[in-house]
Amino acid sequence: MSAFIHYNFSGKKALVRVDFNVPLNDLLEITDDTRMTAAILTIKKILNDGGSVILMSHLGRPKDGPTDKCSLKHLLNHLQELLPQTKVDFANDCIGSEAFDKAHNLKSGEVLLLENLRFYKEEEKGDKVFAEKLSKLGDLYVNDAFGTAHRAHASTAVIADFFAAEKKMFGLLMEAEVLSAEKVLHHADKPFTAIIGGAKVSDKILIIENLLQRATDIIIGGGMAYTFWKAQGKNIGNSLCEDDRLTLANDILQKANAAGVKIHLPIDSTIADKFAADAQTTNCESFGIPNGWMGLDIGQKAITDFREVILKSKTILWNGPMGVFEMEKFQQGTKSIALAVAEATANGAFSLIGGGDSVAAINKFHLASKVSYVSTGGGAMLEYFEGKELPGIAAIKKG
Ligand code: AMP
Repeated sequence: MSAFIHYNFSGKKALVRVDFNVPLNDLLEITDDTRMTAAILTIKKILNDGGSVILMSHLGRPKDGPTDKCSLKHLLNHLQELLPQTKVDFANDCIGSEAFDKAHNLKSGEVLLLENLRFYKEEEKGDKVFAEKLSKLGDLYVNDAFGTAHRAHASTAVIADFFAAEKKMFGLLMEAEVLSAEKVLHHADKPFTAIIGGAKVSDKILIIENLLQRATDIIIGGGMAYTFWKAQGKNIGNSLCEDDRLTLANDILQKANAAGVKIHLPIDSTIADKFAADAQTTNCESFGIPNGWMGLDIGQKAITDFREVILKSKTILWNGPMGVFEMEKFQQGTKSIALAVAEATANGAFSLIGGGDSVAAINKFHLASKVSYVSTGGGAMLEYFEGKELPGIAAIKKG
């Protein structure tokens, strides 16, 4: 594996796997270009060195071959806007003679965007022949798609086998993602607090279990907190609960106790008489919610408790909101925790935010620039913190 930043791409054709899986509206317009802008620094570094760039990505979930809706051609104009001085071309296929000829004739400083990789079933199957065909398009392989690093697909992992160690590397985005994730999982300064929220315990079980071996404190908020209260015999009214996970929740509390990890549950909640923006609300203890009412956000006492834990932390990992932050009445918990994480960061803590909804929340409250790192890879980040080896990372690192 080579270090991207020190590599001189002059005269080289770099085949770059990006994650351009951006959301499109019914008019096939891009509604959020974050994933495209996130790759621009990598692309520019190669172009500025005097290299050329062949971009490959998936878009959407095409089931049976090419569909107009999933064509990467809809991204071409915007890519050109993001790279105004650069000649940007498009190939109607990601393999085959057109792609090969256009890649072959690409000049220094030019960019070629390939059609959707997932128009071939071979991509998701991790097919070796398909991966080898892709590999012929460039002199070097750069993986800058952290969002798909947990997939062992042809373009994210298998392709790396067709490049020598010094000809495969992470791009700048991927490198930043890997460095911050490794820092938190393997080199965390203590106290290390993990803040885990969101709807379901079942989605976050593996991450909590892995963090029991690493964190000093785990804050549990959001809908999943009520399963933990019910597991201890408490009344949670009509709050979200996974009755088939009560034993599991108790196991986690016991394991944490044995490992000396402090689990912090929200002592109080903002409760509502229905799951709606115009619900009647009041505050009560989370372990005594009347029937007919449901906890939709952490309460003021919980905010004070959690804030105190966060402010004494040197490392913070945050995945999942503290309440139904999409509705204004239930956003206070998530917003206060975001502010506390920002304050701890200003005091010197390292904070990593990851997972779709926590990223949406930190952006909603305009605090993304006040934390150390906001991950672009929801599923990939979750799997990394569950302790799994990500194929996209392993394929480059093994050399
Ligand atoms: P997840 O994708 O598991 O991180 O869950 C995120 C979702 O959990 C968000 O859409 C929140 O609205 C929802 N959520 C958070 N707290 C609660 C709660 N107390 N009751 C119901 N849903 C919640």
